[in-house]
Amino acid sequence: MLNELFQQDYNPPKLEKEILKFWEEKEIFKKSVEKRKGNERFVFLEGPPTANGSPHPGHVLTRIMKDVILRYYTMNGFYTPRRAGWDTHGLPVEIEVEKELGLRTKQDIEKYGVEKFNERCRESTFRYENEWIEMTKRIGFWIDMDNPYITLDNRYIESVWWSLKKIWEKGLLYKGHKVVPYCPRCGTALSAHEVAQGYKTIKEPSIYVKFKLKEKDAFFLAWTTTPWTLISNVALAVHPEESYVEIEYEGEKLILAEKRLENLFAGKGYKVIRRFKGRDLEYMEYEPIFKFVKPDKKAWYVVCADFVTMEEGTGIVHIAPAFGEEDYEVGKVYDLPIVQLVGKDGKFDERVKPWKGMFVKDADPKIIDYLRESGALAWEEEYLHEYPFCWRCDTPLLYYAMDSWFIAVSKLRENLLRNNENIEWYPSHIKHGRFGDFLREAKDWALSRSRYWGTPLPIWICQKCGETMCIGSIEELKSLSENFPEKIDLHKPFVDNLILKCPKCKGEMKREDYVIDCWYDSGSAFFAQWHYPFENVEEFKNNFPADFICEALDQTRGWFYSLLAVSTLLFDKPPYRKVLTLGLVLDKQGQKMSKSKKNYVDPKVIFDNEGADPLRWYMISANPPWAPIRFYEEAVKETLRRFMLTLWNSFKFYLTYAQLDKFDPRKHSVDVKNRMHLDRWIISKLQNLIGEVRENVEKFELQKASRAIEEFVVKDLSNWYIRRSRKRLWIEEMTQEKASCYSTLHDVFFTLSRLLAPFIPFMSEAMYLAIKTKDMPESVHLLDYPKKEERLIDKDLERAMDISRRIVELGRVLRGKIGIKVRYPLSKAIIVCGNDTKREIENLLELIKEELNVKEIIFSGSREEAMRTIGENNYAEIEGEGIYLVVDKRLTPELFAEGFSREIVRRIQAMRKEMNLSIEDRIETEISVNEKGREAIERWKDYISGETRSKKITFTEEAKGELIKKWKIGDVEVTIGIRKGA
Ligand SMILES: [Zn+2]
Ligand SMILES: [Zn+2]
Repeated sequence: MLNELFQQDYNPPKLEKEILKFWEEKEIFKKSVEKRKGNERFVFLEGPPTANGSPHPGHVLTRIMKDVILRYYTMNGFYTPRRAGWDTHGLPVEIEVEKELGLRTKQDIEKYGVEKFNERCRESTFRYENEWIEMTKRIGFWIDMDNPYITLDNRYIESVWWSLKKIWEKGLLYKGHKVVPYCPRCGTALSAHEVAQGYKTIKEPSIYVKFKLKEKDAFFLAWTTTPWTLISNVALAVHPEESYVEIEYEGEKLILAEKRLENLFAGKGYKVIRRFKGRDLEYMEYEPIFKFVKPDKKAWYVVCADFVTMEEGTGIVHIAPAFGEEDYEVGKVYDLPIVQLVGKDGKFDERVKPWKGMFVKDADPKIIDYLRESGALAWEEEYLHEYPFCWRCDTPLLYYAMDSWFIAVSKLRENLLRNNENIEWYPSHIKHGRFGDFLREAKDWALSRSRYWGTPLPIWICQKCGETMCIGSIEELKSLSENFPEKIDLHKPFVDNLILKCPKCKGEMKREDYVIDCWYDSGSAFFAQWHYPFENVEEFKNNFPADFICEALDQTRGWFYSLLAVSTLLFDKPPYRKVLTLGLVLDKQGQKMSKSKKNYVDPKVIFDNEGADPLRWYMISANPPWAPIRFYEEAVKETLRRFMLTLWNSFKFYLTYAQLDKFDPRKHSVDVKNRMHLDRWIISKLQNLIGEVRENVEKFELQKASRAIEEFVVKDLSNWYIRRSRKRLWIEEMTQEKASCYSTLHDVFFTLSRLLAPFIPFMSEAMYLAIKTKDMPESVHLLDYPKKEERLIDKDLERAMDISRRIVELGRVLRGKIGIKVRYPLSKAIIVCGNDTKREIENLLELIKEELNVKEIIFSGSREEAMRTIGENNYAEIEGEGIYLVVDKRLTPELFAEGFSREIVRRIQAMRKEMNLSIEDRIETEISVNEKGREAIERWKDYISGETRSKKITFTEEAKGELIKKWKIGDVEVTIGIRKGA
């Protein structure tokens, strides 16, 4: 089957389907893992995707990269089981179901019924599972999809509960009233790492607002980028240590920080009247702009706070403790009231009469209009800043004071940083940069979500005495519950129905009505996938920490963070040793791909048109793994043409001849040391390549590894070795020369099939299957990765070949300068070089001569001597890296005739091909050409007839035939007509 495939043109989709069938039938993946059982482990942890949407190019990229590394370590003898996982909870799932059902608010969901809603969520989590499995198989990613871990599984949830109880016992799980990032559409608080997923740069109004001092004819000038929060203003904050000024400007007295004066009023004709220390302004009262409710505590005075910045604004900050973390904190210090006039839906409530029911951000322009009309607006500017949006539904987030459950991660900052020190990051700058920065400022993890589809928070509170318990297992739940059912689903609403008996007062305990952040679920994968500690304790120990994880850059503050946080909380150890962070996948224009813009190619199109191997090779070789990569079809096509086809054709060339000659490596193999120079050279290059590939893969420098392979295949193997070796294979009998070449090609391709196996597993397999003999393992993926063999490396020979190739290249350039093509032989070339160089390349002289197409090569010690030898007017020369090449540029009639006849042969061959003639078909040839051309052809008539199987060559005024073509060869015009002869 496969031998036949290699007689055809390269058709990856067709080939790959055959290989997939072969892998499946023979269970090659399973065998490749089992074969290494008992060896040292290479532990991989799969970051679980959500299967409620189709996989996109980013997923394809991560799967390719993971696969390359895992196959590499497997072939290096490591026991590398790979288990798939699915992330199934949380907002990503809920929002899709809401859309489907046309539900817009949480009330809608409640009305629809939580049980039914969650049932729909459960169904939807695997809606695209088949598409995912299909893609995973098609791309060649070997991972066990039959036995995945799933975060909605009762056992998984139980492990998560166990971990939360551990954290509770350490006193690190608590309920607090805090200002948290909040999505008004989803109606839930979000965690800092969720917020980090959704920053966008937007333009918003920023306004300068005047607050009139009480009983004085002056104003505090404050600045804000969230006009809607002015409704809840209760104070103004100044920096106690900074200097403030009162100025007179256009007839008004304004107070602001002195350091901001230049920025805001330069050249505007103001006059400074007075100076104060910020501290002196403390407790000064002002008149409120909005007074929709009467605060329950003293409000509207100046407070001091260190967070007031002199970098922007006026140095006076408006304070609304209901909507800002810092506002809330300073509010606690000064016992400020909290004026909350915004509902959980992000809209003003009925007390804000003019704008009631309006989403706060939409009310901004109206509020600004009001300020302008009432004279409180000093001026307005546009402000470009980073603002967080909900990572799932794209609604602008609000900061909102509310009750939430937190994990006190901020107390573990030191531990997080210490554990991070034991992780190898690729690329390394992320460790102390993007990731380290986030750890240094780690906030308490807002864990609870006021949602439905997720791991329920296992906290029960006694309604009578307030006793609070964190439940850590199903057993524990059972023991405290009087209505525990036969079978339990640990989701809402079932867990909510469980009423526990308070161990203190026998009162009723009810569950806190929250689910948890789904990032906590996936961050627990390293133990929860084993149902640890309830089962598989050994298995967990053997797999912790993971040796390798790999996801896209956007997981830095996502899964990479949640894993480290959970692992630090529970075990105070890093959960992974090496992490490979992949660049983002962009579209052809370099734009970020987005679901809404649909600006990406469906990977399936590429699988069907170009195939998986070319896509893999493109993704691997285009950029370092951590750099962004453009994903588009033409790029894959180009890779296919540039590399894959060259590899295929080279291999096909070898296979065709080897089969024709019945070459059997076991019978005809020639020992490397007895092979020809060219053979030993390519073997030596191959050994270096092995070393280079290994070194780079171990540093995840996959691009460097693949580029090295590509250079070897295209430049060394195809364009030099095979081209130089063709003639040897045309000899009829199996000479030593020929066997030496076959042995070499066999070694090269057998090694390449293994070397390439992690990168392009399909073509490698096909190559291997085509050359393997019965006694060899059934798949290349069951073999060991090649190791560099120092004894086969011949540095002197490599150097000599380098010099020879340089001389050949010099010849090519020189011929371009004098306008004589390589097809025309020259009589003489003189290489001017030192004795050492001469000695080095002496063995390769025959090769250089052929490549230069000269009749004679001589060496000379000096340029002058070389020129004298050829004669003043007849030489042409060129220099490169200390070597001179001098040639006799005279094209004698003899030399011209030889070259010209070759040109004629080449053209007649092309015409034969165009007429689809077979090798045996004879032809008749008519040629119209000038005297010079005719003379040349006459000299080589026998040669031309033989090469082109022309029975007869005639010269006419006007050449006729079944096919007639006109050419200009050099300055000679030729018309050739051929017809199929009898
Ligand atoms: Zn949202
Ligand atoms: Zn109680």
